[in-house]
Amino acid sequence: MAGTEIFGIEEIRVLTDVIERKMIHRYGSHSVRSGIYRVEEFEEKAKKITGSKHALALTNGTAALITALKGIGVGPGDEVITSPFTFIATIEAIVACGAVPILGEIDETLGLDPVSAEKLITKKTGALIPVHMFGAAADVDAFVEIGKKYGMPVIEDACEVVGGTYKGRYLGSIGDCGTWSFDPNKTLTVGEGGLILTDDEDLWFKMDCYHDHGHVHSKKHDRGEEGKFGLGVNYRLSELQGALGVVALDKMPAALEKLRRTKKRIIDSVKDTGIKVRPMHDLEGDTASHLIFMLPSPEAAVSFRRAAGETGTGFSIISENTWHYAKHWKALEEMGEKDFFGTKAPSYAPETMAATEAKLSRAVMTGLNINMSDEDTERIINSVRSGAETALR
Ligand SMILES: *Cc1c(COP(=O)(O)O)cnc(C)c1O
Repeated sequence: MAGTEIFGIEEIRVLTDVIERKMIHRYGSHSVRSGIYRVEEFEEKAKKITGSKHALALTNGTAALITALKGIGVGPGDEVITSPFTFIATIEAIVACGAVPILGEIDETLGLDPVSAEKLITKKTGALIPVHMFGAAADVDAFVEIGKKYGMPVIEDACEVVGGTYKGRYLGSIGDCGTWSFDPNKTLTVGEGGLILTDDEDLWFKMDCYHDHGHVHSKKHDRGEEGKFGLGVNYRLSELQGALGVVALDKMPAALEKLRRTKKRIIDSVKDTGIKVRPMHDLEGDTASHLIFMLPSPEAAVSFRRAAGETGTGFSIISENTWHYAKHWKALEEMGEKDFFGTKAPSYAPETMAATEAKLSRAVMTGLNINMSDEDTERIINSVRSGAETALR
């Protein structure tokens, strides 16, 4: 689950090269950098892989979400609809823009339920952010349809699913724009890094300027002489991370293939127990970073976890996950029912997430590593068998 496990000589080489050339910044110094732009190569590679017309690398996935919202024009008084099952960064990005997060409920696949999201649309809705969680796609087609119907931009939070696909298209490249993260906990990492994918030239231009103090980037001018488009911030990625990003994307296909092979082996080996695998909108596009089963009841999930743990594999019940489930975020609940520039926030009370709770409390999860030994895989298989036998008895 943490991309450092595939670090090797390639990363050392590209980092050493950047340091030896003393060119650690992406913009400017055009006459003395021998035409080498690593962050740009990272973006070009992401474009080539996904087919997106534009890619913008920046400091992290949270910055990517903020920049996407800013580019779209979300601001004070707006509402943004997203999922209660996400990393808190999605919510923070909305709040950082002065907007109010509105939480829908998840569907059986654990992605934001488009039916619940559509019901929340008001005149104040500025964007929809479906989140692709734990390896698998949210119902992207349905969100794109809703987006069209209401003239509403769709930002895919694909921070956790770099390389994952939906009906053959890369997650993050389907909505109006989408974000990827390369933080230390993601399958592929550059230390800290993020990327935004979009086909929309105008949106890309605004985001490109915003992420670097408003600079209108051009290799024809020296830094500072290119002109400005409004005010921005500094979310620039360094050449060190850009260089790591190029390597990470080169290693992506092999890493995903390993994860998928491991997951398939586990699932094939436990099929006969009758345990239900987390359903997905596109099974083939799963990055296979997480192994999740849906038990018939919360009690069965508890029995499963106990029995699987006793045979050596720690499974967690996702509803207890304080990192990824809004029910646990006190700071968010404290924002509840307050007024934000004329827009009242919902209560964010746990009871408003009943449909989500009903699913997450039955979902048991363990993470998969890219480099897993046969023994590790066998241990997980034995644990799942034992968990299933106990919980489904
Ligand atoms: C990791 C993550 C982010 C934020 O990415 P960072 O690079 O850590 O800032 C946003 N959304 C989701 C769903 C994530 O998992």
